Amino acid sequence: MTRKEIVLYDLRKRNYPNKRGDSFRSLQVFECWVCGVLTNEVVMGGSHGYGVRVICPQSAECWHHELELKVNLLRQPHPKTYKAELQQEIDEIKKRHKRQIKNDIVGSPDFSLRENVTNVRSFKSNSGCIH
Ligand SMILES: [Zn+2]
Repeated sequence: MTRKEIVLYDLRKRNYPNKRGDSFRSLQVFECWVCGVLTNEVVMGGSHGYGVRVICPQSAECWHHELELKVNLLRQPHPKTYKAELQQEIDEIKKRHKRQIKNDIVGSPDFSLRENVTNVRSFKSNSGCIH
């Protein structure tokens, strides 16, 4: 059996596929600051011009939008009791969706090269999402 060779592109070398819509796997690992998922799937996209985009695999989910709102709220100054309440709500959403928050890593990337995903929010059509 031959193992399928997976090319991991080092973004620092800038030799990755660069046509709009291209997608590839990177040596760098990207973390979603909303749900904490890790991915190394890069797409060449964006609405104005284009470039390296890393989209959280859960970014189109309504619960992910809700989680994003709460994580953003938590970053602002609030009374301690409210912060504790928010943190609890965040933990509960993460717990409820634990099975969906699965890392999407292909190959053996370098986990010390950690960056943030570029997109935490996307939308599905007709999902009934209220955000
Ligand atoms: Zn996420």
